[in-house]
Formats: sequence, C-alpha cells, structure tokens
Amino acid sequence: MAIFIEGKSVCNLCGKTIDDTIEFSVPSIEIINELDHLNIFIDSTMHQHCINKDSRKKELLDLISQWIKNSGPGNRKCLVCSNEVTDPDNYFSIGYLTNNKESPLYKYNFLHFHKSHLKDWPEKNNFLSLLTNYRSKGLIKGALLDWLIEDIANQV
Ligand SMILES: [Zn+2]
Ligand SMILES: [Zn+2]
Repeated sequence: MAIFIEGKSVCNLCGKTIDDTIEFSVPSIEIINELDHLNIFIDSTMHQHCINKDSRKKELLDLISQWIKNSGPGNRKCLVCSNEVTDPDNYFSIGYLTNNKESPLYKYNFLHFHKSHLKDWPEKNNFLSLLTNYRSKGLIKGALLDWLIEDIANQV
C-alpha cells in the first residue's frame, strides 16, 4: 500500500507530501525476487519530477509495460494449451523474475498456465532447477520465490 499521512500521500523517493494529484503511481506488480532493486517502487506513488531524475526510471517503465501487456482480460493465455484461463481456481502465474535480458530467467517473466496443465509444461523441470540453483547462490530470494518453487514442484 502507498503511505498515507493525514489523507495525503508521500513520495516514495523524496519522502515529501504529494499535494493534490498523485503524479506517478506504480501498481501492485508481483516481483518474485525480493532482492530486485525495483521492489521499492511496487504499489507506491511519487512525484513525477522525482521519478524523472531517478536512474531506475527506464527499467521501471519497462516493468510496467510488460505487466500491462500480460494483465487483464484476453491476456491470460495458458502456455501449454494456448487457451485463455478463465477459471481463477485453475490459474497459475509466474510473476516478474528479472529485468536482465541476458538472464536465463528473463523468458519466464509473466507466464500464465491452467494450473492443471503445469505438469505438462516441457520446461517445468528446467525452470525449477534454474530457480533452485539461483536461490542457493543467493541471487534470488523471498517468500514468493519459495512458494513458487514449492507449488511448481508439487505439480506431478
Ligand atoms: Zn518526491
Ligand atoms: Zn492450458
């Protein structure tokens, strides 16, 4: 949640009150790796002039545009069967893993599945071993990550 003090929100970057209008806000995007340096922006608001001079702005905009492309009606297509997932109880998604295009994890950002089809995903084991390997090296960490690994491993 964004921080509200006496009905006013506070800029995530400079800590000062944002008067009148919220100038730049970041939605609640699921970032798997709690070490990711974009994590501090999630679900927060800031002054437009503050984000404009921040070196992470380009990466942040890239994250938001990837997220928009992969959210909402029509965009939840199961990677295994190509059909849209409409049943929330049979939905499984992989959130944002990395913004590093060189990383082998990059292609797994924002994937959608029927939960029941996850076991048929040809890359399942490869993805799992990547995650556990990166976790053991301390490159990625977090409760969401642990949950993701456990949940995928349980699909047999
Ligand atoms: Zn500010
Ligand atoms: Zn499917």
